[in-house]
Amino acid sequence: MTTLNLGRKDGGPGYVGIQFCLECNNMLYPREDKNNKVLLYACRNCDYKQLADSNCVYVNKIMHEVDELTHINPDVVSDPTLPRTKDHMCPKCSHREAVFFQGQTRRAEEEMRLYYVCTSCKHRWTE
Ligand SMILES: [Zn+2]
Ligand SMILES: [Zn+2]
Repeated sequence: MTTLNLGRKDGGPGYVGIQFCLECNNMLYPREDKNNKVLLYACRNCDYKQLADSNCVYVNKIMHEVDELTHINPDVVSDPTLPRTKDHMCPKCSHREAVFFQGQTRRAEEEMRLYYVCTSCKHRWTE
């Protein structure tokens, strides 16, 4: 596997992953604006859009796992629509309930990756 780090360290919008709407906190979806030839992240719930960083979805970018985790909004633990599990103990505080969801990545080999967020300390991890 080739690791290609494009060097973003500021946690900005260039990441192809889970982004949340600043208005309503729903998940944002990548969308191509064909008129302006730019990539946007758009909310399906309201009109919020944000410009994605250049080209990032077009590059088959592989980000470090730690980076993916830092982009998970820990407030997902209060999202009642997300499934919860009691089978995955938090590696940080040993709490036994976590919210989990599938990563939003375009890389086929990672489609099934699950992310967990502890409902107690909001620690995020993946398996
Ligand atoms: Zn929204
Ligand atoms: Zn925890």
